[in-house]
Amino acid sequence: MQNGKRHRRGAIINPQHVNVPKTVNEKVENKIETPKKKGFSPLFDNFKKMLKTQREKAKELFKELFNKIKNRITNSQKIKNALEFFDFILLKTQAFTKDFREEMFVSWRQVRKRLLAALTVCAVLTFVTTLFYKTLSIGYDIYVNGKSIGVTESISEATRLYNIALSAGKESLSSGDFSLEKPRFYLRFVKKGAFTDDKAIVEAFLSTSDKFIEGYAVVADGEVVFSLLDEKDAYRVLSSYKAQYINENTIGEVTFDKNVEVVKKQIPLNSVLSKDGALDYIKLNQPFKVVTQERVVENISIPYEVAQTPDSSMYKGEKKVVSKGENGEKVVETIISKVNGEETEKVVASETVTKEPVVEVVLVGSKEKPKGFATGVFMRPYNGTLTSRFGSRWGRKHEGIDIGGKVGDPVKAADGGKVIYAGWMSGYGNFVKIDHGNGYVTAYGHLSKINTSVGKTVEKGEVIGLLGNTGRSTGPHLHFEVIKNGKHVDPLSYLK
Ligand SMILES: [Zn+2]
Repeated sequence: MQNGKRHRRGAIINPQHVNVPKTVNEKVENKIETPKKKGFSPLFDNFKKMLKTQREKAKELFKELFNKIKNRITNSQKIKNALEFFDFILLKTQAFTKDFREEMFVSWRQVRKRLLAALTVCAVLTFVTTLFYKTLSIGYDIYVNGKSIGVTESISEATRLYNIALSAGKESLSSGDFSLEKPRFYLRFVKKGAFTDDKAIVEAFLSTSDKFIEGYAVVADGEVVFSLLDEKDAYRVLSSYKAQYINENTIGEVTFDKNVEVVKKQIPLNSVLSKDGALDYIKLNQPFKVVTQERVVENISIPYEVAQTPDSSMYKGEKKVVSKGENGEKVVETIISKVNGEETEKVVASETVTKEPVVEVVLVGSKEKPKGFATGVFMRPYNGTLTSRFGSRWGRKHEGIDIGGKVGDPVKAADGGKVIYAGWMSGYGNFVKIDHGNGYVTAYGHLSKINTSVGKTVEKGEVIGLLGNTGRSTGPHLHFEVIKNGKHVDPLSYLK
């Protein structure tokens, strides 16, 4: 059998199982459309035919090819060197008289031009010829009733296949009254080796008949889906259809969603499909579907639980992890039912814990916070635009940051604590200082109004005054300081 492109059309028959009766000696009429010429003439005629039908395209292709090769030759260093050598001799050397050199140079130029043209033509021709013979073969297109049924290497090969089809038909029909339309042949170019499969040609010959033949129908729930001539092929089609839905997880028997049978019966030859044709047909139309089951085993993580124990030694909102939790692991086996690859059901068949999760034990504070409790974390006393940073400014040290804003906006305590200053302070205007009791003190300057007094305990976020422009200030802003153990530090590194 040819290892060429398969021809998907018509009936299937195994040529090895067909005995060609000796009485069958019918000759196939060879109607070749090409003139009776020898050698390359038919080839050349076909080429001319192609030029006629696709003249513009052929011209473009040839031009492109020609220019490519021409460029390659003119860019070739060896040829360039040789040409330059002659140029040099004729122009530069004093070996000849000037007149002689000039005369020679003019004719040399012409030679040079022709030389290049000749080289180009040679290269193009060599290339085209090589390409042609490497990629194309000559074959015969077989036509029955005006339709191409395949391509063979030779007419005798086609005739042989025609005779096989004919005797197969005669053998299957008890009456012996069987004939097939005679084929016509057309010479044509074929992609190298791309001849039609023998079996496909035989089946295609048979499918041109309107007679009935004994074959095998694939029946789903009592309805004929398609028919083939070969019983084994029918089963092969069914198993190929199943195979596309089988993977490494598939378990158990692979079945169909309908009762599918292969039934021997009389079938019209022209309705018979090839093996590939039948497979394409059921893949596309899905007259019945493939039912599969898959078993999937996965390792799934089990999240740990958190056990919270109240602890009266800690304040509310405080937490302490006593022992860290650890995720567990389980092996889960799932059975997935699918119809033509689409999931229809999912059942967990088993679950095995391979590692128990470890509970995380956390102590949670239950003690009420005292008034003015310092959290140790500062909040922004006012949300505005930073207008001046901590550090040196105009030769003087700026001991806080300035936050620009609107007069009358509330200014909040950055953390809980005790008010240790609330009143006028030179340069700072209305000024508030809060001791947080943990080594930190915060200060708020230029307030338009003070809402607290010395000795008062304030909560984090409590309004202690209003933003203003008092003291040495060039515009409404809050001057904010953080003092750590008596030393001014950059508030920006404490505000989140
Ligand atoms: Zn300031």
